[in-house]
Order: sequence, then structure tokens, then C-alpha cells
Amino acid sequence: MEDIVSLCKRRGFIYPGSEIYGGEAGLYDFGPYGVELLNNIKQSWWRANVHLKENYVGLDSAMFKHPRVWEASGHVGGFSDPLAECKKCNNRIRVDKELEKIGVTADEKMSEAQLNGLFDANRAKIKCNVCGQQDFSGVHAFNLLVKSNLGDFTGQDERPVYLPGEACQGIYLNFKNIVDTTRLKVPFGVAQIGKAFRNEISPRNFLFRTREFEQADTQLFVKPNHNVEAYEAIKQDRWNWYLSLGIKETNLRWKQHENLVFYAKDAWDIEYKYPSYGYDEVEGIHDRTDYDLSQHMKFSGVDLNYTNPQNPQEKYIPWVLETSMGMGRIFLAVLSDAYTVEVTDNGDSRTVLKLSPELAPVRCAIFPLLKNKPELVAKAREIYAALSKNFVCEFDDNGNIGKRYRRQDEIGTPYCLVVDFDTLEGDKVDTVTIRDRDTSEQTRVNIADLNQHLVV
Ligand code: ATP
Repeated sequence: MEDIVSLCKRRGFIYPGSEIYGGEAGLYDFGPYGVELLNNIKQSWWRANVHLKENYVGLDSAMFKHPRVWEASGHVGGFSDPLAECKKCNNRIRVDKELEKIGVTADEKMSEAQLNGLFDANRAKIKCNVCGQQDFSGVHAFNLLVKSNLGDFTGQDERPVYLPGEACQGIYLNFKNIVDTTRLKVPFGVAQIGKAFRNEISPRNFLFRTREFEQADTQLFVKPNHNVEAYEAIKQDRWNWYLSLGIKETNLRWKQHENLVFYAKDAWDIEYKYPSYGYDEVEGIHDRTDYDLSQHMKFSGVDLNYTNPQNPQEKYIPWVLETSMGMGRIFLAVLSDAYTVEVTDNGDSRTVLKLSPELAPVRCAIFPLLKNKPELVAKAREIYAALSKNFVCEFDDNGNIGKRYRRQDEIGTPYCLVVDFDTLEGDKVDTVTIRDRDTSEQTRVNIADLNQHLVV
């Protein structure tokens, strides 16, 4: 993981947040290549979950919402993690995660009393990860919602407005709008990518647990009790999407939740085997009954019943099947899966990001063989300008060709083109060499066929 973090910084994928001020815990910025990779992952997800599904539509709801939304959703009352504080150095730990590390089953949905019981029974095995002492306070639930003063001019914190603790609430809020303004009929789904903010007690593991992150969520609204088959289909569909990104199936696994919230029928996580710290959740898939819409109906006073257009007597609150994936976590999974160090024939090591061409930040790099030959540079620039209309391309005339290849290997560029003297005249005129990132093999291709060659 350290090598991946270092590559991310060195090559402009991820920078620590507010770095020139010494950084800020749990915040990261996506650099020039990071944002391209992130956007490509989002596009793949959007295509799979909106454009390729006839009964799904997209949404982009406002981040801020009426304060009652977070009461209805249960976040004001119950969105907390169990916290204990080291009495020596005031470091705060997340108790369920520390218990899990020593093999004790625990999660944030347990009551404070249950967690205190488990913590007390295992105190001897848990050390402060900052000062090494074992003198902790008792466990108490710490609410993760982040407050803002948006629209509050009194300075009295009278009407706390929250940043989203999860992105998906906007889908419930617009359920009625979508039914009223589209031709969709239950079962139908809504997809959204949005920001979420959580006051995580101990942000850790790079992008895995941050205080600001993005979630890609879908919610399928089904007829009551029509959940089981649809849930299985969604699980399979989500699994297949990970494989479509080129992620190795051996690095993925399912984990079923043992401790369900009272309204849920079932919940599974897709876990990825992250380097250094092993399997952990990248996406949750939840069978949530009618809880969310019922809560919003109760708190807003607006009737959120769905009327079957074929049978107006039939009215019901749809049940919801939800998928929720963290963009930072999938980004890290994609990078980890692609990160490869190879030993070349001459004994050097070569770092390659074996990203699928669909995800790679740059699809194609174009090099003139020599920087000081204007005719080669001009031809390479002409090809660069033409291909850039369809793909993200990079022009590079700096250093020897070997170094230029290495640089592109490290950012995962699948194809590098070289414009040489044969491109300009002779029996190979109007061809270039195209080098494959994974095999390092070079072939000659007609310039006229390049667009076709680069399509995935
Ligand atoms: P965890 O148990 O790891 O805290 P969670 O079960 O609270 O996660 P959900 O509330 O189900 O997570 O959120 C859905 C998805 O959002 C998760 O599967 C994860 O990918 C992502 N996510 C949640 N919290 C964070 C975070 N602090 N940083 C980055 N991604 C997160």
C-alpha cells in the first residue's frame, strides 16, 4: 500500500488535502491523473446503472437538505460510531474496529451497553495506537453527522443544517417527483453519485476511510414482498460490474451482515482484498423494506404511496433495494488491482498500472522519436490533435523513448505511438509504431486506422 500511496503522489493521482498547511486528516485531493481515472470509473458505473437499464434513471440532488430529512432517516438519532478515548494522550479509537482487529465480532449497530461489555472484557488486548498505553475511557456513541450554518444568521445554532451523511437521501425525497414526471412504473430504479461527509473518529488507510467522500448509489423500488429475486439479481449485477472493470475475481468476496437493523431483510457487502490490510467493504447492498419512504411520509406529512396505474385500487409504499459504493474505495481497489512491478529482460524493474483501457487516465501517448527534428514533431502534433478529439491523449517529446514509455507505464497508458523517420517517407510512410503497455510489443499501424485501434 505504501508503494501505491507513493505512486499516487509522485504521478499526480492523489494529493494529501491542504498539504501546504500541513494537511488535514481524512481529506484528499484528486490530482490531474486521479480525476481522469475517477471520472472514467464514474462513467462506467453510470453507463451500467443508468444508460444500460431501461427502468433506471439518474438524479443529482442538492447536497444540503431540510434538517428534518436527517431526523426521518435516523441519522440525527442513531448515526454514530462507538468511541473511546485514551486517557494518556487523548487519542480516540473506534471501538468496534479495534475489537474486530483482535477477532471479536462487533459493529457500530450494537448498543452502547453491549459494546462496553465487549470492550471491558478485552481491554487487556487493546493498546492505544499512538502512545501504546491501555488506559481508555468507557465507550460512548459519537454521532458522525457534520453540521453547517447554511441559512442560519443567528449564530445560535438554532436550526442545524447537516452536510449529507450519505448521498442517497435525495432519491427518496424525489421519489414522488420521479413517479409524477416520468413514465416509469414500479419496479424502477434511480441512480445518483454524490458527496457524503462523516466525522470519522479515526480516518485511516488512505482513501479507504476519509471524512469527505463520494458515494455511487442505486435504489430499486419494488412492490412489497417482491424483493428476494430482485435482490439476488442486483447482487449478481454488481459483482459482474467489478469484473467488467478488470478487477481480479480472486480479490473480491461477499460478506453477509450478521447484525441487521430492525427493518432490513438482508444486507451483503462486496469486499476487496486491499494490499497491506486485507479484505474490507467497498460496497453495501441492502434489502431495506419500506422503511425509508415510510419515514419520509411520516416526517413530511406527504403521501408517498404508489398507485398502480393498471389498477388504481392498488396503493402501496414500495420496498427499496439499495446499492451504495464508495468512490474512494473503488478507486483504491482499481489502482491496487492494476499495480504491477515486473522484472524486465535486462534485470530492471518496471512499474506498470495494468488498468483496463476504458479506465486509464490517458488512452494514448504520442511521441516524436526525436525532439530536435521539426518534421517529426510536427507530424506527432498533427496526430495528437486528431486523436485528442476522441480520446484523452498526451504529447511527450522529453527524454529518451525508454523513459517516456516508463512514465506512461506508471500512469497506465495502454498505448504509446512513436512517429519516426519511416512515418514520413519510404514504404512505411503514414504508419507509426504502437506499443502495447502490458506486453511491450510494438507493431506498425496506419495512421488512418489509429482511431479504430484505440477504441475498446
Ligand atoms: P464502514 O463500516 O466501513 O464504516 P459503512 O457500512 O458505514 O462503512 P455505508 O454507510 O453502508 O458504509 O456506506 C456505503 C459505502 O460508502 C461503503 O460501502 C463505503 O464504500 C463508502 N464509505 C462509507 N464510509 C466511508 C468513509 N469514511 N470513507 C470512504 N468511503 C466510505
